[in-house]
Amino acid sequence: MTISPELISKVVRETVQEVVARQASGLTAQGGAAAPSATGDGIFTDMNDAVEAADKAWRQYLDCSMRDRKCYIQTIRNVCSDDEALTYMAEAAVEETGMGNAHDKYLKNRYAALETPGVEDIITEAWSGDDGLTTIEFSPFGVIGAITPTTNPSETIINNSIGMLAAGNAVVFSPHPRATRLTHWLIRRINKALGEVGAPANLITTVEKPSIDNTNAMMAHPKVRMLVATGGPGIVKSVLSSGKKAIGAGAGNPPAVVDATADIPQAAKDIVDGASFDNNLPCTAEKEVIAVDSITDLLKFEMLKHGAVEIKDPAVIARLASFVAKDGHAVAKWVGKPACVLAAEAGLEVPESTRLLIAEVPFEHTFVQTELMMPILGIVRVKNVDEAIDKAVEAEHGNRHTAIMHSLDVKALTKMGKKIQTTIYVKNGPSYNGIGIGGEGYPTFTIAGPTGEGLTSARNFARRRRCVLKGSLSVR
Ligand code: NAD
Repeated sequence: MTISPELISKVVRETVQEVVARQASGLTAQGGAAAPSATGDGIFTDMNDAVEAADKAWRQYLDCSMRDRKCYIQTIRNVCSDDEALTYMAEAAVEETGMGNAHDKYLKNRYAALETPGVEDIITEAWSGDDGLTTIEFSPFGVIGAITPTTNPSETIINNSIGMLAAGNAVVFSPHPRATRLTHWLIRRINKALGEVGAPANLITTVEKPSIDNTNAMMAHPKVRMLVATGGPGIVKSVLSSGKKAIGAGAGNPPAVVDATADIPQAAKDIVDGASFDNNLPCTAEKEVIAVDSITDLLKFEMLKHGAVEIKDPAVIARLASFVAKDGHAVAKWVGKPACVLAAEAGLEVPESTRLLIAEVPFEHTFVQTELMMPILGIVRVKNVDEAIDKAVEAEHGNRHTAIMHSLDVKALTKMGKKIQTTIYVKNGPSYNGIGIGGEGYPTFTIAGPTGEGLTSARNFARRRRCVLKGSLSVR
């Protein structure tokens, strides 16, 4: 049997790519450190240079095969999912942003690295028949400008990088200034690994000093063809006003409704697990509970078994409310802080192990109405499930983001789903089941409610292009 030169070169190429991809994860066959990359690290002083470099990278990327693309995606997964990297990212995020807890950040980064859909997400559609063959293929936009939040700094970069590169794009990141160090570390790490497997240099770029001016320069740059904003209402409005194709993944205020038919011990555990996850930072985390009167006492009692502490003293509730929010917005200094730190500031001593502070409050209270992103959960007692659903819809403020309901009544579950119209609706589980952590479905850290893409993945970062061949290639 003769082996063709093409096959030999294919096998050699794939073997080299595999070996280098393993090295990129920080390990060589001998267990030593990988060699440094000969390519740039993707970090530029000037935003225009960051965009130009990404544009050049994208044009080179067009010449890479789908096999190359898969290799690059695997390389990103490898360098972002080893234990050392995950531990570093989790701890560095808490240290630099002052938000969240390392244990849960480790998990979020791991899901982002390993489970974010890759090239398999961009499926070709085809029609074939007497008139020939027509395909719809997902093609890149080119350079995407991605704005990332403080609350999920590395998770969003990993998740966006995999999805955007899988769709054939290059990406310029505009991170929150309070997550600069971690962002630089991660972008350097990914670029170095990509360089080592032969990817074009600067497929992922950013600037030395992230700032609003730099973000604006990125948004205005003609070579940035698509904008993806993950953050609060201000930045979502900015990208939607840019005149460019934009995906807006904005704020939420997820309510959790509990009715009388629910498995209350399970609901209590799920709510504490979800609302305390990463100190309540995720935009998807339970931010308030609307419970029917007949089960509210039992629900609170069960929540205490899972690390919640109930604040009953109206003076302590008032003190806590006085510093965590101002003018209807969370005060950044307290966002993502541990429950015991928040309690101490309000003059209440609670065990360090406290996962969540709960307080029964009126519906109008800031613990219900404000997206606090802190382990503080307002609980509102209502007469019946219909009132609970109406109040949940109101508390969600039309964000169409996330809602949770605990009930065994399918009619009530259906009514809630129809009325609340959220992008994510979790039934009988903790909120993080909705982003693929412990629930079916893939994870994402860019949930586009305002612009309707939902849980974004590679196909949302691509253009649908039709290719028509007249008269032939249908073999049916
Ligand atoms: P943020 O809006 O303060 O910042 C987000 C990003 O936008 C940062 O990079 C910031 O530097 C930039 N930015 C903000 N205002 C800007 C402006 N006027 N001009 C230019 N750039 C601007 O949000 P955050 O505090 O970092 O993150 C928390 C918010 O993000 C919450 O509201 C949360 O619900 C939301 N969020 C949404 C999702 C989602 O997928 N829908 C995911 C994570 C966070």
